[in-house]
Amino acid sequence: MRYRITVLPGDGIGPEVTEQAVEVLKTVGSKYGYEFDFNEELIGGCAIDACGDPLPENTLQACKKSDAVLLGAVGGAKWDLLPGDKRPEAGLLRIRAGLGLYANLRPAVIYPALQDASPLKKEVVGTGIDIMVVRELTGGMYFGKKGRFQTEAGEAAFDTETYSTAEVERIARIAFEAAQKRRSKVTSVDKANVLESSRLWREVVQKVAGEYPEVELNHMYVDNAAMQLVRNPAQFDVIVTANMFGDILSDEASMITGSIGMLPSASLGKGTLGLYEPVHGSAPDIAGQDKANPIAAILSAGMLLKYSLGLDAAAKDIENAVEAVLDKGYRTGDIASEGSRIVGTKEMGKLIRDQLAGK
Ligand code: NAD
Repeated sequence: MRYRITVLPGDGIGPEVTEQAVEVLKTVGSKYGYEFDFNEELIGGCAIDACGDPLPENTLQACKKSDAVLLGAVGGAKWDLLPGDKRPEAGLLRIRAGLGLYANLRPAVIYPALQDASPLKKEVVGTGIDIMVVRELTGGMYFGKKGRFQTEAGEAAFDTETYSTAEVERIARIAFEAAQKRRSKVTSVDKANVLESSRLWREVVQKVAGEYPEVELNHMYVDNAAMQLVRNPAQFDVIVTANMFGDILSDEASMITGSIGMLPSASLGKGTLGLYEPVHGSAPDIAGQDKANPIAAILSAGMLLKYSLGLDAAAKDIENAVEAVLDKGYRTGDIASEGSRIVGTKEMGKLIRDQLAGK
């Protein structure tokens, strides 16, 4: 089989980590007999520098023609003073909207070898954590009506949280389907005690649950969910929630794993085309120094194989190779602890490829 993958390295450490992810995909390709056509395009600050637009039209068109998109990271101090819609991050929002990606999947996994990296106590982490946060990505407060107006007391501003039944149904289905492939449990997080949009969210999720009788559903208020994530994270399998709650809870879930350099993500829409990117940013403080942890990007490539190409065995192979390299004690600086063997970005990538190739 032949697959077309658009690679958007972006800024800062983006190019360094995506290079390793692409090399890993090539190794998987030779091992399993898949062919990947990689096509590199611009996004973010480098696209602003080259053509004045964080998401040039030809980048979006190339992505639309691909089987999947692999992204590094965007942003940096150089572009921080530009107006909001001209900043590198605007490219991210636009590419998600342009590709119709409405679900963001973020696994938060604590690997046995990295248990010490979690800021939580050992007894809380227990035998490990494996949570999937499914966040609605194109609705809610971030896209609702917003504005400013004058009052007698001065200027005021508002943002609106809006969700339609159709928007909630489709994200709920993604969550239930993800749970079917995992431990069959969905926690739907809302603020139904206060917000009308949350009450609709809850009703719709409850209705969709009827289509997945083998998946257990529970509902939780967002304030309680934020507490439960640090009190007893092992109770969660799949968490599904609205855009803003998901933005906050997925960062919290990431934090309990202990390293941002380990966390992949997938953004999915209606078809199989998806966008895969590490959770971390462009890390300008370590860019160009061969210090970045490429594992988040490599695991993102693994998610790409699983969710866009349906190559589950190859995806699992990547996860296992990462775990095996960690078990051998190799670490990039961000996840190093006493006694670990510290390696750079390139060396970590090579170790994972060698593990995959059985070297
Ligand atoms: P960041 O994730 O880039 O960095 C936070 C800290 O984590 C830094 O100390 C960094 O060195 C470290 N870090 C991040 N990724 C790492 C990796 N793979 N290996 C080792 N260490 C790693 O977040 P920030 O500093 O808040 O933002 C930097 C820039 O990235 C900003 O311009 C921001 O807007 C942008 N950003 C982009 C994205 C994205 O592209 N999706 C996400 C977040 C931030």
